Amino acid sequence: MAIPEYLICLECETPVYDFEWASGRVVEALCPQCGNDDPAAFATEEEFEELSGAGEEEEEEE
Ligand SMILES: [Zn+2]
Repeated sequence: MAIPEYLICLECETPVYDFEWASGRVVEALCPQCGNDDPAAFATEEEFEELSGAGEEEEEEE
């Protein structure tokens, strides 16, 4: 699994570039915006899109 370019802090939805990644998951991360340092409270861009996509089912589609 490729290392993601950045993670998204689930507390404040800020992209976080300062993190440690190992064995396909976050092992350490620190959000500069809100100080969140719980690895479980960060998502990859892909995970975040799934999470946010679930809340916006009625998005317009062309
Ligand atoms: Zn944050």
